Amino acid sequence: MKSKSVIVIGAGIGGITAATHLARGGLHVIVLEKNSRPGGRCDRFSREGHHFDTGPTLFVMPLLYEAEFRTLGTSMHERLELKRVDPTYHLVFDNGSQLALTSDMKSMQEQLETIQPGSFRGLLRYLQEGEAHYKLVLEKLVNRDFRRASDFFSIQNLALIYRLKPHINHYRNMSAYFDEPRLKSAFTFQDIYTGLSPFEAPATFSMMPYTELAHGVWYPKGGMYSIVETLMDLARQAGVEFSFNSTVERIDTDSNHARGVSLADGSRLEADVVLANADLPYVYQRLLPQDGMAKALARKRFSCSAISFFWGVDETYPDLGPHTLFLADDYRENFEYITRDLSLPANPSLYLHAPARLDPSMAPPGQDTLTAIVPVGHLSEDGGQNWGELRDQARRHVFRRLWTLGITDLEAHIKFEETYTPISWAERYNLVKGSTHGLSHRLTQMAYFRPSNRHPRCQNLYFVGASTHPGTGMPTAMVSGRLVSERIRDELQ
Ligand SMILES: Cc1cc2nc3c(=O)[nH]c(=O)nc-3n(C[C@H](O)[C@H](O)[C@H](O)COP(=O)(O)OP(=O)(O)OC[C@H]3O[C@@H](n4cnc5c(N)ncnc54)[C@H](O)[C@@H]3O)c2cc1C
Repeated sequence: MKSKSVIVIGAGIGGITAATHLARGGLHVIVLEKNSRPGGRCDRFSREGHHFDTGPTLFVMPLLYEAEFRTLGTSMHERLELKRVDPTYHLVFDNGSQLALTSDMKSMQEQLETIQPGSFRGLLRYLQEGEAHYKLVLEKLVNRDFRRASDFFSIQNLALIYRLKPHINHYRNMSAYFDEPRLKSAFTFQDIYTGLSPFEAPATFSMMPYTELAHGVWYPKGGMYSIVETLMDLARQAGVEFSFNSTVERIDTDSNHARGVSLADGSRLEADVVLANADLPYVYQRLLPQDGMAKALARKRFSCSAISFFWGVDETYPDLGPHTLFLADDYRENFEYITRDLSLPANPSLYLHAPARLDPSMAPPGQDTLTAIVPVGHLSEDGGQNWGELRDQARRHVFRRLWTLGITDLEAHIKFEETYTPISWAERYNLVKGSTHGLSHRLTQMAYFRPSNRHPRCQNLYFVGASTHPGTGMPTAMVSGRLVSERIRDELQ
């Protein structure tokens, strides 16, 4: 019997993972990707011997990656050469004080007690809560599909989910553990990974600092793009076909079916199933006939965006750790500028990545490869933001912050520079509003409340990726790929 066919739109992490599961299950799968290479947001570029991961730089939640690689029939540890990053982050505060987050609890105790006497006990209690949240979130929310309301709204499930403190905002919850604002920010800034401010994120997100300290932050040799290469090997072994530089212009539908897709070059492809990995709000806006859903999605909350600088430098900065975070005192105002005003804060918190500290091959000998990421608001509806000006301001802030670490000459040593603004994110990967993490992860947009992984009317049209369930992040995109492929296989039977 001829095997059923699937078209996947987009070779992001979710798309490649789903394609592999489906091909391993005997389906004929072709992935159409508009760009010339796979990976989507997990992208890279190289220049003059400098290698840059342009999207993700943090390998977090290793147990989740491990489990997902197992479901693909392989071992993460055999496929990736991983190195633990410890201290995970070097935090630098406005008053010049520093905190190195490490799994060495003796060092944490010494550092925390200097900042706020008695606070180490608070950390231990906070990590306990984080552990409980982590386990519950993975079991009840991430590793589960919510195909119908009853999958979510059971008495038992709701009682357990209530224990995740979804109704308390993360920052407010920190008062139960710490008084010192620097410590409250040190263990909540991770919310930005889901594109949320700690002032709107649920307290559930204490799971992130917990997993970072308990399970570690890691670095794959060759950078984060080596995950894409590994997934591509697995996909090709499973028989997935890829077509790059293939932009899908429309998903062809009739009353309640997707028939296939039309491409920008005028060609058409048909399949039994269409699976869209492109950002879900974009799919409804641009690839499907208008039915009100695109407008409904546009009204939802989107995660923030980022201005990123990629610098090839003819000098090394060995004192700069692999992951440095400059956290501003006006922490709340910072997030308000980003989420409410959709702009750049006056004194932004920002992140610096020096991959050559972890893998010397990321820069030529005696030189450095540096990435600075400054979180900013996503694109506004009225297009009133001046990204050229905001980019220049962000750049000045990075250099100013580096002065506090005694690095005063970076600008003079830059050989070349690449910059991404929210417009770049929108153009490169078709991310609506240039929002780097897609639909935000506020309470009303999580789990069953996130848009369904299947189109409500076209029963053979499915979605995978950051704006779908379970949400943003590399390992989460792999989970999304597995869950949707299980659903497709169940529903094809
Ligand atoms: C700056 C930044 C930093 C991040 N940091 C981290 C981190 O440290 N750790 C972490 O775990 N996660 C991080 N993330 C999040 C992570 O990268 C994403 O959640 C994940 O990669 C999303 O995968 P996805 O499956 O949604 O696919 P996407 O990456 O969205 O890929 C979708 C693909 O579809 C393609 N496409 C779009 N439209 C079309 C079309 N019409 N036709 C054909 N193809 C199309 C796109 O080109 C793209 O390749 C970061 C993201 C960004 C942007």
